Amino acid sequence: MNMIYGKGASGGIAAGILKIIRRERPAVREETCTDVTAETAKLHAALAKAEDELDLLYGEAVRKVGEKEAAIFEIHRMMLTDEDFVTEAENFIRNGHSSAATAVRKAGTALAEIFGAMEDDYMKARAADILAVSERVTDILGGCGGEEGRTITVTQPSVIAAHDLTPAETVMLDRKMVLGFVTEGGSAMSHTAILARTMDIPAIVAAGEIPDRYDGCPVVLDGNEGVLYVEPDEGTESRFAEAMREAEDERRRLERFRGKTCVLSDGTRVSVAANVGSLADIDEAMRCDAEGIGLFRSEFLFMGRTSPPTEEEQFEIYKQAALKTNGRECVIRTLDAGADKQIGYLTGDAHEANPALGLRAVRLCLAKPELLRAQFRALYRAALFGNLSAMIPLIVLPEEIREVRAVAKAAQESLQAETAAFGKLRVGIMIETPSAALLADRLAPMTDFFSIGTNDLIQYTMAADRENPAVAYLTRELPESVRRLIRSVCAAAGREGIPVSVCGELAADVRETKFLVEAGVTKLSVSPPGVLRVRESVMREASRLVPVSR
Ligand code: PEP
Ligand code: MG
Repeated sequence: MNMIYGKGASGGIAAGILKIIRRERPAVREETCTDVTAETAKLHAALAKAEDELDLLYGEAVRKVGEKEAAIFEIHRMMLTDEDFVTEAENFIRNGHSSAATAVRKAGTALAEIFGAMEDDYMKARAADILAVSERVTDILGGCGGEEGRTITVTQPSVIAAHDLTPAETVMLDRKMVLGFVTEGGSAMSHTAILARTMDIPAIVAAGEIPDRYDGCPVVLDGNEGVLYVEPDEGTESRFAEAMREAEDERRRLERFRGKTCVLSDGTRVSVAANVGSLADIDEAMRCDAEGIGLFRSEFLFMGRTSPPTEEEQFEIYKQAALKTNGRECVIRTLDAGADKQIGYLTGDAHEANPALGLRAVRLCLAKPELLRAQFRALYRAALFGNLSAMIPLIVLPEEIREVRAVAKAAQESLQAETAAFGKLRVGIMIETPSAALLADRLAPMTDFFSIGTNDLIQYTMAADRENPAVAYLTRELPESVRRLIRSVCAAAGREGIPVSVCGELAADVRETKFLVEAGVTKLSVSPPGVLRVRESVMREASRLVPVSR
């Protein structure tokens, strides 16, 4: 048995025969031209053809993976018309007398190098997109355009290996034939990896050289750990076969909980919602039968760009989020940047020795109130389209709620002054700090709901960095101190008559379902694949639970 280590880009296990795809690309030769005008015309004709191809591909991708993930092909189309790219290619023809193909290749490589050198991993990963686009144009110039020529065809179910896959190749993969894929290059941030996750194809990227002699060998691909086992020994094979069987059995068993509602013996309803970071995640959450969205991490909308999304951009996304959740509650958390979620253009200017205790989350928003105001305006406008709530992270003091409410009110008043249409928005807070938990009785009358962010509440209570494995032993079991805080938060909320949810990872820990529900938590919000498992756990406990009177 040989093992190849890469990065797990899309979870799950696949077992089958390895098929190595080596595409013969025409040798890259520097070609020149004599007729600059004719060559420039050729360039523009190829660009136009590539645009048409990408339009078709976009349509196909929308059908297969939905609008959000298909958007990459719109971006590819925009790259084709990008002024810098086109002018650079024209210049190579005009000044360097390059052929159109050589000019496109050179312009693509130059632009990809600029992206490849960027600090931000997301921007770095865009280099691959630029190369994919320029390759498409050179293929057309070389007479081999069209998606068929580019589609990877596999005639029997296999795990495929390639140097890299473009997003176009990935979206066109036949899911019935491709059990999983491994690429020698690539990154987990690439659109190829994102598409693999959306299409639910187990995948490994950045695996380094995969020797051709492995072609046709039996393999097990572990997309969770990023390991490819070539000619797995009996023990490995049976371990993964067992894991796959168990996963399948569990999937079948959990299906019985689809569409079910959890009601405790006293009639209290406990719902299981989902945590998401994008509109595509909401689609996934709805597929997983989530009863609404308990946490939409809006900070992801602010990442991978060089300036904040405009009010209009945010409005469109929140509106779609409201529509997609279809009458169920969708809780959008206001920007939670800082600490482990650095967003260069917002958080980069001041060096903080202790970013987890620094200017993050609501503190950053109150330091830049125009940011929060734009977010609230977008949220109020989007609230017309569904059941939206806003949720404020990292509250420590009542004053912060007052200040946030003042910004929300100003946002509402400015919309009123413009006679812009807007809807109703509940405003809740996250309980993620010992201070907020201890002041819960004073905070409860000021807010519409509490949502306990146990990831941070545990880290701040135990003074144990959630990212540091050396201190993970302190939080492996739910600490008694945190249990006490959760109980007292629920009691304070109960006296005020506001609901409490949990949206930290603890909500998915089925060992603690009984404790949370008994304490008075009425909503558990977990990542989409965990919804049915948590619902099963609540229903199993429901008959035995005696809810604490609130
Ligand atoms: C939490 O702290 O529990 C939480 C849900 O927020 P995040 O993990 O995004 O900090
Ligand atoms: Mg948090």
